[in-house]
Amino acid sequence: MSISYGLVRTTQLVYGSYCTINGCSKKRNSGHRYCNQHKYRLTYRGDANQQKIPVSTQNFAKNAVKLLIKDNQNNVSWHELMSAINERWSMSVAYVQGELDKYLSGKPSDKYRRRGLILTRDIFTNLGLENAFVIYCSWQYLQEWNPNMFVTDDAFKHQIVRSMRNQAKSFHTQSINKKTGKPSSYSSPLYMREREVVWEILTGIFGTTGMQLYKQIEKRAEKLRANKERIYAAIKRIE
Ligand SMILES: [Zn+2]
Repeated sequence: MSISYGLVRTTQLVYGSYCTINGCSKKRNSGHRYCNQHKYRLTYRGDANQQKIPVSTQNFAKNAVKLLIKDNQNNVSWHELMSAINERWSMSVAYVQGELDKYLSGKPSDKYRRRGLILTRDIFTNLGLENAFVIYCSWQYLQEWNPNMFVTDDAFKHQIVRSMRNQAKSFHTQSINKKTGKPSSYSSPLYMREREVVWEILTGIFGTTGMQLYKQIEKRAEKLRANKERIYAAIKRIE
């Protein structure tokens, strides 16, 4: 008991009684720097100051990338890029499975690393290369288009990995409904250390897609914007 009292007193001395986010006057959570709301944002968005990025904005970016892919079907350099990505993808699939096999045969494991590898394997299996590529590029596109959309690098990485995880339906076992076997929540937390494992592997695969791609997406998006005023209006609101 004396140890936990000591910790509570220490955090009290360091952080005071209120959330440490500038301008927030809510009570701090016991043992944390932040109030409930900001602690939630840290776990679910990768940074306590990160605003929610609307689904309409995410879909807009995904559609732009999909149209770009369609447009480039006759482009030789596009197919060269995709074959390089394909090769790195296959190598990563083998690497992740190899690492997981080591854990299965009794290698001591760090739970966040293991969880990160499981998440990556689920992305490989349930999402597939093209879906993962579209999601990855769509977030990169949003970042280039409006760098203020993400308050930190961590927040940016978090959005990419979480959005792939949700689509791959890869959740912690405690987020699975025991009766139905379905995930009880799409908002189950993503921990930074598991995220880092996924991030490192994904950038190894897609990291070199490069700026040229976005110039082309930008052109495509201009057309989209002209055609879809409604979506544009939704995006305007978060600028
Ligand atoms: Zn707060």
